[in-house]
Amino acid sequence: MCPKRWIVATRNSHKLEEIYAIVGNSFMLDILPDDFPPIEEPFSTISANAWAKAYKAWQILKNPVVAEDTGMEIEALDGKPGVHTARYGGQHLSMKERRQLILKQLEGHTNRNAQFRTVLVAIINGVPHFFEGIVKGKIAYQESGSGGFGYDPIFIPEGYDKTFAELPAQIKNLISHRARALQKFIGFCKKISNP
Ligand code: IMP
Repeated sequence: MCPKRWIVATRNSHKLEEIYAIVGNSFMLDILPDDFPPIEEPFSTISANAWAKAYKAWQILKNPVVAEDTGMEIEALDGKPGVHTARYGGQHLSMKERRQLILKQLEGHTNRNAQFRTVLVAIINGVPHFFEGIVKGKIAYQESGSGGFGYDPIFIPEGYDKTFAELPAQIKNLISHRARALQKFIGFCKKISNP
């Protein structure tokens, strides 16, 4: 049986907003308690970091938990920034500076292919379940749009000619890496509840 109530192990308010919108009334979602210790991303893969976040929350809270880790993978940069997406260019850079760094590194490249990849880990009774969501697309030549967060102003999803930051949130929440991972998780939960 799939739990009806889950704790979402993230402090990122943008991710939370999207997760709530995508999940709708499929589950009840709770946030981490205020005194929960900082969540680290110590490993060299997106999956391992997603697992680390979820496992730490499960160890402390002993509740069903979901956590995710996301990376942007750019073909012309050999898959970078990948697992280093959050800190790309160094801890001190602002998000805008990170986006500008990528645009600069891609100057002169006609191959703009990229993807966002999310790995979501759901822990039920101490057992982790992994769900991956990928959205393919291209890195734009300049920033545009004010919606979304992170690298959204420079990412154009496949099938569209606008960045995630220009598209309505409803579209991002239908086709994004995060949406795809969550849709798999919701499908898994339905299956184990009604085998
Ligand atoms: P993390 O999963 O919290 O480690 O996020 C990795 C990095 O990717 C951060 O810099 C986020 O801002 C960025 N990021 C995560 N999800 C998205 C998204 O949906 N759109 C754009 N950037 C994102």
